[in-house]
Amino acid sequence: MVVTKIKIGVLGATGAVGQIYIKLLANHPWFEIVDVAASPQSAGKTYYNAVKDKWLQDIFVPENVRNLVVRDVQDYTKLPKDLGFVFSAVEMPKKEDIKAVEDRYAEMGIPVVSNNSVHRWTPDVPMLIAEINPDHTKIIPIQQKKHDWKGFIVVKPNCSLQSYLTAIFALEKAGFKVDKLIITTLQAVSGAGYPGVPSLDMIDNIVPYIGGEEEKTEKEPLKILGKIQGDGIVNDESIKISATCTRVPVVDGHTASINVKFKDKVPSKEEILQIWKEFKGIPQELNLPLAPKQPIIYLDDDNRPQPRKDRMNDKGMAITVGRLRKDPVFDWKFIALSHNTIRGAAGGGILNAELLKAQGYIK
Ligand code: NAP
Repeated sequence: MVVTKIKIGVLGATGAVGQIYIKLLANHPWFEIVDVAASPQSAGKTYYNAVKDKWLQDIFVPENVRNLVVRDVQDYTKLPKDLGFVFSAVEMPKKEDIKAVEDRYAEMGIPVVSNNSVHRWTPDVPMLIAEINPDHTKIIPIQQKKHDWKGFIVVKPNCSLQSYLTAIFALEKAGFKVDKLIITTLQAVSGAGYPGVPSLDMIDNIVPYIGGEEEKTEKEPLKILGKIQGDGIVNDESIKISATCTRVPVVDGHTASINVKFKDKVPSKEEILQIWKEFKGIPQELNLPLAPKQPIIYLDDDNRPQPRKDRMNDKGMAITVGRLRKDPVFDWKFIALSHNTIRGAAGGGILNAELLKAQGYIK
């Protein structure tokens, strides 16, 4: 049987996240890359020539994109026809330029599945983690009507919170309401894009500050756990989060140390482990192509999870947790890890697009 794939584009295809899109989509069963776009410096070159000096992946540049000619993200005249949607992993000096670009695609009828932060706080733009808030896509028709767009925009959250939020959500869903969280992240250098943090700042060192990251870690979960009300998504303000975000000399994989205080009922260790083991979301129920079979993997060994050993669990899409132990100040504490450029960026974006296709929003 011949399967007709949805034709798609990648904006920012030459960057750190864009390259992961290219790698993960090389043999995707539903989506076929027909358009790669980047800055005016890359435009006009073949994809291979545009990335050959900054290709970071452990496979050769995939054949399906090697000879595609890179388009300037803002050259709308060269857009291929029948584009089903685009992934946006574009970075530009001014945030308002990225917003203008994403709005323009949505206005032209091309849905945008974005990694960028510019629309995360637009009330009618859903910020999706497919296992947590797949129902937030119901805001899409409201968004389209309000902006008079034929397309639409969905975003995924910052990579720093992917490692722990699903584990916290699973406990909330099981009826154990969370009151407070203290989060300390140890974030990989690939999170800063290419070429990222200078090597002399990073080797043999830890940088105790990442601009804007703590605010995102403290606020974005509230929208993800929120509800659609009227023409926007209203935050769940019942959880208080305090975050410290650091950059560590790890290539890929954001680790987080989490302390949890529950509101009233406190689960036992056995209950927490059982909840994590049994947790499944809509992506698992629908068997979406990139969905991890088990979204939360708990490792018993005291010295796990570790970025180098555990970031690729289930194609880099699973969250790996460990070291669940009593907290003498709060109730419980644990360590969580997720692959920042896969689960936290391109893989998370692809899973969102698979969800949108399964829900009928992209065709
Ligand atoms: P990056 O490595 O710096 O790549 C940026 C991309 O944007 C490149 O393709 C670049 O093209 C293109 N670009 C730069 N200036 C442009 C312009 N003026 N017009 C059009 N395109 C332009 O950044 P990244 O780490 O991949 O991040 C991309 C986006 O994903 C950012 O919004 C970032 O915040 C977000 N994100 C990143 C991560 C992560 O772990 N890295 C995780 C979650 C979200 P050229 O190659 O031609 O310069």
